[in-house]
Amino acid sequence: MSLHLITQRLRDAEAKAGRAAGSVQLIAVSKVQPDARVRAVLEAGHLVFGENYVQEAIGKWPGFRAEFPSVSVHMIGPLQTNKAKVAVELFDAIHTLDRPSLADKLAKLAQARGTCPELFVQVNTGAEPQKAGVLPAELDGFIAVARAMDLPLSGLMCIPPEDQDPAPHFAMLADMAARNGVQGLSMGMSGDFEAAIAAGATHVRVGSAIFGARSYA
Ligand SMILES: *Cc1c(COP(=O)(O)O)cnc(C)c1O
Repeated sequence: MSLHLITQRLRDAEAKAGRAAGSVQLIAVSKVQPDARVRAVLEAGHLVFGENYVQEAIGKWPGFRAEFPSVSVHMIGPLQTNKAKVAVELFDAIHTLDRPSLADKLAKLAQARGTCPELFVQVNTGAEPQKAGVLPAELDGFIAVARAMDLPLSGLMCIPPEDQDPAPHFAMLADMAARNGVQGLSMGMSGDFEAAIAAGATHVRVGSAIFGARSYA
């Protein structure tokens, strides 16, 4: 478990970028990790986690939450519309708002509940056909649609193409956020979170560098 080391690197990256200490939120991505590893990070005092699968999160977080009430859990994986209700009950933030049908569903749920998780719009900055996210050219229109539904938007999220330098994608996301008047920038993973912080990330999503490699066996 390398929470301490990653936290130190994050603090160094904040300082180097001229950002205030503690201004970047570290989301410890615990998908597919054994409970013992997650517990070790909780017991070390870290309270912000990321999950990719609704079903897995349902099995894991109600129990941990009972023990660690101030924990917050962020949904960072693709969200099916038929799981939106469970998701708004389970998660404190959703980073993968990526289509009008999901926006519509979340708006109705938020209306009924009187509260809404923090929302990030996922942008497919590399326009990769297999990847989720709103295309860059469609983003401003999508944000207007979501705002017309009274959805509160906290920021934007991206996952740059694996085979490219992520820096231009981070810069593109920062530009799009500034242009649309949203503050949050969810970008940067184990391999590139320092570059993301240099480009203005407010939330970095770090899994394997904290917990060790995931075993999907
Ligand atoms: C799994 C995942 C991460 C964490 O990836 P690591 O390389 O293990 O840090 C971050 N963001 C998303 C969207 C993920 O699916």
